[in-house]
Order: sequence, then structure tokens, then C-alpha cells
Amino acid sequence: MTATTVSTRGLFIDGGWTSGTGGDTVTVVNPATEEVIAEVPQASVADIDAAVTAARKAFDEGPWPTMSPAERGRILAAMADELSRRRADLIELNVTEAGSTRMLAEMLQVGTPIDHFHDLTNRVLPQFDFEPPVRPVMGHGIGHGMVVREPYGVAALITPFNFPFLLNLAKVGPALAAGCTAVLKPSPYTPLEALVLGEIAEAAGLPPGVLNIVTGDITEGEALTTHPGVDLVSFTGSDAVGRKVYTQAADSLKKVVLELGGKSANIILDDADLDKVMESVLAGIVTHAGQGCALLTRILVHQSLHDELVARIAGVLGFISVGDPSDPATMMGPLIRDVQRQRVESLIATGVEEGAQIAFGGKRPAQLERGYFVEPTLFVGVDNSMRIAQDEFFGPVGVVIPFSDDDEAVRLANDSRYGLAGGVWSADPLRAVAVGRRLRTGTVIINGGGGGLNPSAPFGGYKHSGIGREFGEHGLAEYLQHKALQWPVG
Ligand code: NAD
Repeated sequence: MTATTVSTRGLFIDGGWTSGTGGDTVTVVNPATEEVIAEVPQASVADIDAAVTAARKAFDEGPWPTMSPAERGRILAAMADELSRRRADLIELNVTEAGSTRMLAEMLQVGTPIDHFHDLTNRVLPQFDFEPPVRPVMGHGIGHGMVVREPYGVAALITPFNFPFLLNLAKVGPALAAGCTAVLKPSPYTPLEALVLGEIAEAAGLPPGVLNIVTGDITEGEALTTHPGVDLVSFTGSDAVGRKVYTQAADSLKKVVLELGGKSANIILDDADLDKVMESVLAGIVTHAGQGCALLTRILVHQSLHDELVARIAGVLGFISVGDPSDPATMMGPLIRDVQRQRVESLIATGVEEGAQIAFGGKRPAQLERGYFVEPTLFVGVDNSMRIAQDEFFGPVGVVIPFSDDDEAVRLANDSRYGLAGGVWSADPLRAVAVGRRLRTGTVIINGGGGGLNPSAPFGGYKHSGIGREFGEHGLAEYLQHKALQWPVG
């Protein structure tokens, strides 16, 4: 077993560490080397029940939900400081467990969520209106009243493998800030980046039961989303599982927030400067080996720029160094597991059967004997109705589709069951914004955007990409519900 920089102390339930009741373990593997890096306890359904019971007690008996936002903010600020103190360890862990390149780990995977956590305690929580003003309406005499926003209750937080630390914190931060108590269940591939949050909570003095962290997969996820003690489910993952979660939670009428998949279009209009476009197009293929929900993997390009763009992308992909992400020179790491690689390879084969052509890549890198690698891959000759244009690869594969005018670009971009993100490039920013406004997606990046994730920009999907929003004040609002208090005049 190779070392990780983070110890594993078991499941975190009711403020303590336990090895669970089932006796089974989850084996955590470094996807670049295939070496075992940790064994953690596999939660049983009884452990899930214990975690929900602890969260329920911490909610119903308090004091967490009835503390003032400022009091909660002080403990969350201590968590933010502890996260910053452990930043270097967490970056190492993310590289080893999630297979992220060092640069991505330093920025989006670990750096950004820590910055967002500080922003939550410094800006979002102090400024948030927990008692929004009520406007009197003439002719509707309902006496005097006030509206208060109260924590929703016990939240089940379920996350995927690709950006584990970012997505765990994107849920834990606002859930706790709102006054909810929570049970976090990460992907079975990346439990360590969740369990370490128990140590952070302990160090910051979070009361027992407010945050509980379990492991597991389908059975345990189902136990959480059907548990009568859970009031709200916030799920990030595939749309296929998202649909199941929605159904599972329906019987007990839980609130459900879903952050699901995407097949986002990057629209390159006829006046776009290809020098500026290239970084975004390459990032859509290579970033975290394509394992990103909002990556712009459907490249829609005006027909006059098509051949030049394809030649440029194929030329640069040849210089992308693929390998072990612990090497700082590596530009693209592995997929998370062999089963994920097989899914990507099967969809690549489908693309060839559908009649598309591979302009670059398509295979396993010959020089890498271990690790779950796939070459960065580019498809041309793609029709938007093909499966490779409609389904998520969740691997390093881009597809190029030409269009003839802005209307066709918008039609193609919106011809998708997903609606998570999109990009538009034009020399005329107003034209790009006009096209962006016509896209049915939760995010649109105009001419490369501002760089990084803006903590006050809501993130989430239209259509099958989800329900609800994360980040900043929008994320916090998902964990609250309104209560109207009314009393007679005089
Ligand atoms: P997945 O849907 O397979 O699993 C996600 C989580 O759900 C895991 O923790 C898993 O154990 C759990 N789970 C599985 N079956 C369950 C069930 N029946 N009930 C409850 N929980 C269950 O997703 P994945 O393969 O880990 O991640 C990749 C997917 O996540 C992609 O589709 C990607 O687009 C999406 N994603 C979306 C966002 C977003 O913010 N919109 C962000 C990252 C990833």
C-alpha cells in the first residue's frame, strides 16, 4: 500500500470515529498506478441509520439550527482556517485519490473550494437575509407579519468521484451555514476526501451529529434517500442515477436538489479569433481527462473555420503529456477506474460505427502499462444526432460539428437532453451575449469568461442537467425554507 498524506480513522458519526458494524471495507486505489492507497470501512445500512439518527438528534434538539448565523459562522470560519492549514495535504490527497493533475488540484479541485468556504463565512453568511422584508399589499389585509427563512432539516449529501473535494464542500458549507445537519456520502472511489472533513469538523469544534460522513454506494445511497429521518437530498452525479434518487425520495416527499451531467456546446462564431479559442477547446477535452460535468465537449464551429480549427486541435493534442499526475510535468492524468475507461472506449467504438472519423487519439497510450489512461481524442464528421454528440463520454473526447449561421448554432446547442453549460466565442461580445441568452443552459461562458468559478454565480442545470443551484447565496438558499408569521394589527 502506498502512503497518502491523510490518515483514515473510519466513518465519522455523531462526532466520533467508528469502523462500522458491517465488517466490510472499501479499497481505495490510485488510478494512475493501480496501487491500493487505503482501506476504509464500508458503511452498513445500520451505520447509515446511525448517521441519520445522529443528524436528526442534532437538528431536533439543537443547538445548531437555532444558533444565530453569526454563531454558526464562527465555527465554520474555524473550519475554513483548518482547511487552509491542511491545503498542501489535501492537494496531495486529491492527486493520489482522484488522479487529478497537480495544477488542477492546486486550483479548481482544492484551492477554489477552500476559497469558496472562506467566502461563505466572510461574505455570503453575514450578508444573507434570513428575514426578508414583507411588502404590505393594499386590499389584502392580513394583519402584520414577518417571513423567516429556516433550515430545511436533515440533509443527505451524495457526491460523485470527479471533483470530490469541491463537490463535498459545495454541499457541506451551505447546508451547515443554513443550520441544517447533514450526512455526507461520497463516491466509493473517493471516500478519503470526504472522511477528512470529519477531522476538519473536529478541529473546528463542530457540535456532534451536525456533520456525519459515511461510505458506500447504491444500497447505502438508497438507504439515505429513502430514510424517513432525512428532509432534503442534495445529489450530484449522473442523470441516470439522479432520476433514481428523485424517485427514491418521492415516497417520503423530500426536497431534492439534483446536479447532473452535461454535454455542453462551445460555439465558435465566424468572426472568432482561433488563437483565443484554442485554450478553451483544449481544456474541454483534456481537463481532468474529460471527467468534468460542465466541460465544453461539443465543439460547434462555423463551417468557414472548421478545417483550420480541427488541424490546430489535432496538432496541439500531440503535445499533451499523459501520465502519472504526481509528476508536475503531466498535463493529463487517468480516468478513475478501468470500468470508466471501458465505458469511454465503448462510446469511441460507437462513434466509429456511427460513421464519425477519429482525427486524433482513440486508443490507450502505448507507453503506459499501468493506470486507467486513454489518449486525448477528437472526432470529426459528427452529426448532432449521433450518440457521441448526445451522450456524456466522461473521458477525454471532443466532437466537432460545423454550422452555417447563428440560428443553426443555437438550434444544435439546444438539441440536447442536457442543459448544464455552454460557451460562445465572437469578436463582437454583444453578438456572443445575444447567442448566449438563447442557450437553454444554467451557465454560459462568453469569450472564455472571467476565469475560475465565481463564488456568487449560481451553478446548475436546465433540463436533464438538474434541479436547483449551488454556490454562494443561491446554494445557501436551497437549504432553507420560508415561514410566514402573521399576527393581528393593533
Ligand atoms: P454516479 O451517478 O454514478 O454516482 C454519484 C453518486 O451516487 C455516488 O456517490 C454513488 O455511490 C451514488 N449512488 C449510486 N446509485 C445510487 C442510488 N440508487 N441512490 C443514491 N445514491 C446512489 O456518478 P459518478 O460516475 O460518480 O460521477 C459522474 C457523473 O456526475 C457525470 O454524469 C457528471 O456529469 C456528473 N457530475 C455533475 C456535476 C454537476 O454539478 N452538475 C458535477 C460533477 C459530476
